Amino acid sequence: MKLKEIVFATNNKNKLRELREIVGDKFNILSLSEIGCHDDIVEDGSTFAENALIKARYVKEKFGYDCFADDSGLEVDALGGAPGVFSARYAGEPSNSEKNIDKLLSELSDKSNRKARFKTVFALIIDDDTQFFDGTVTGTIVMQRYGCDGFGYDPIFLPDGKRLTFAQMSHDEKNEISHRGIATRKLIKYLLSKD
Ligand code: IMP
Repeated sequence: MKLKEIVFATNNKNKLRELREIVGDKFNILSLSEIGCHDDIVEDGSTFAENALIKARYVKEKFGYDCFADDSGLEVDALGGAPGVFSARYAGEPSNSEKNIDKLLSELSDKSNRKARFKTVFALIIDDDTQFFDGTVTGTIVMQRYGCDGFGYDPIFLPDGKRLTFAQMSHDEKNEISHRGIATRKLIKYLLSKD
């Protein structure tokens, strides 16, 4: 059986690794660079869903591949949902996770409510069928970094009911409960149902 090819509209190595780990050998997931797309796709939507759709549409229209794209980020209650769609560049350009974490810890230094959630939304376009899949994981922003695995805000995010931050967990442990894991499993279930 020929492996199904589908583009994940990203070049983020961490996201690709996580996605491929969850998908296993069910699909051949191609990155943007693997289809020769080196364009800087402008994500100027105001929601995760809008940004995901912008990227998926771009690939489908310009390169013709069935495609899915995600947008994700961290929403912090005490900051009115910030950094949200600005998570990657919270501390300015170019994107820098260490600076983003420093800024977030400083913004929260006088706040008692440290509740937050990671969200992911996938937009999938197969032929002219467009679908969205979301995933959320709730948790707390801890006072300092713990762990050195993972990426982005992982060292300061403690998921509800857990004793380890995302950066202290194995990839499998994180995938099982993460926003991206939840959204990805919904996406894969849908892809398989179209078989
Ligand atoms: P984007 O979906 O690439 O735009 O991701 C936006 C930003 O959200 C990333 O650069 C990270 O800072 C943050 N983020 C999204 N998912 C995660 C995660 O699983 N762990 C830590 N940070 C994340």
